[in-house]
Amino acid sequence: MSFDRDVAIVGGGPAGTSTAIHLVRAEGIRADRVVVLDKARFPRDKPCAGAISQLGVDALRDVGVSVRVPAVAMQGVRVILGGEIGETRCAMGIVVRRIELDAQLVDEARAVGVEVREGAGVTAIERVPGGFRVTTAEGAITARFLAAADGAGSTTRKLLGMRETERKGHLYVLETEPSAADTGTTRGLIDFDLSVLEDGLQGYYWDFPVIVGGAPGVSRGIYHANLSPSSDVKKALGRALRRRGVDIEKVKLKPFSTRPYVPGSRVAEPGVVLVGEAAGIDRTTGEGIAQAIVMGKIAARHLMRALRTGGSCFERYARDVRASTIGRHMLQSAWLARRVYRRSGLPARRLLLRSDFARDAAMRWYHGASLPWSTQARLALGLAASAIG
Ligand SMILES: Cc1cc2nc3c(=O)[nH]c(=O)nc-3n(C[C@H](O)[C@H](O)[C@H](O)COP(=O)(O)OP(=O)(O)OC[C@H]3O[C@@H](n4cnc5c(N)ncnc54)[C@H](O)[C@@H]3O)c2cc1C
Repeated sequence: MSFDRDVAIVGGGPAGTSTAIHLVRAEGIRADRVVVLDKARFPRDKPCAGAISQLGVDALRDVGVSVRVPAVAMQGVRVILGGEIGETRCAMGIVVRRIELDAQLVDEARAVGVEVREGAGVTAIERVPGGFRVTTAEGAITARFLAAADGAGSTTRKLLGMRETERKGHLYVLETEPSAADTGTTRGLIDFDLSVLEDGLQGYYWDFPVIVGGAPGVSRGIYHANLSPSSDVKKALGRALRRRGVDIEKVKLKPFSTRPYVPGSRVAEPGVVLVGEAAGIDRTTGEGIAQAIVMGKIAARHLMRALRTGGSCFERYARDVRASTIGRHMLQSAWLARRVYRRSGLPARRLLLRSDFARDAAMRWYHGASLPWSTQARLALGLAASAIG
């Protein structure tokens, strides 16, 4: 059977556009054999705080894409708990607005020759011999392989009947002007306030610096990893905002969710690779942009291999994702979330707050580094001391 395309990518966010760009630039596939289908029209907004770790920025640069939209360099982090603040300065990556970044990435995909169909929400997927028939609001298309890059709500997952492995995280996000309380963001620092754990939450409140319409702004929000049900996330956000002089009654808020990547997360089906948040993201931070970009690179390699060899089970893709820097990182993060956010995580939280060494190690880990045994041993000792003290 002949197909309209070799690869149909469902979703034109960071995961989908990264897959498309890597397929053409890194794997040498003909651009006219790839299509990106997105239900939205760009520029489209994506509820997100827009922090991209350096890992993601580097992966884009390696494939010839430099971020050209307004961005704030993250120059360090502050961990906040009650009245205490632990501060570490280091280059961590950038903060962007997704409405701008994602529109640029769609332009970059088009610039390499890939067709991006907007307003083409996928509504049905049918398996046909050797491939798929994908129905969208803009008509149907056939393809040998599918890349599901359609995010937290992934229609592709639902249409393929894939069950959710884990509970999703919950978030709220908003942007405001800086207030007098913003003593970190005005210096390019990103704030993680763990005080919300006292409200029964499993996550953090954040303040990130951002450029809105050319002026400094602050992205604020709350992330609840939702390891166990309960918790009034919005109420906790209201209290955190009040401490910063922002009245929650005066802002419009919608709840959003994230899918964590955990042991047992499926990232492939016969003929299909899941990329980005359709597969899962970092459970401790709730972050997934860099992960989506890097996973796009791995997906492109395996799609190209399948096109060359005719294989279509993508089990090696699943293995390679797990073994990659981001895969290992996300699995460690799934483990860490339980250690840090549960009630029993108080010693770990105190260590992060009070120890420069622990925060420095956390920052190296955020950059994708594997921590040597000596560092892990020192952290374990610190944790033990923190539990006693
Ligand atoms: C409030 C909030 C704050 C966050 N903050 C951060 C942060 O600071 N840093 C970070 O790294 N991550 C953050 N995240 C997570 C991050 O936004 C996602 O992990 C990231 O966007 C994943 O990229 P993606 O390309 O996989 O999916 P998405 O960016 O969600 O893109 C999916 C695309 O698929 C399209 N689509 C959906 N359904 C269909 C369909 N049926 N047919 C065709 N197209 C479809 C959508 O229109 C969309 O363009 C946050 C998430 C939330 C909710």
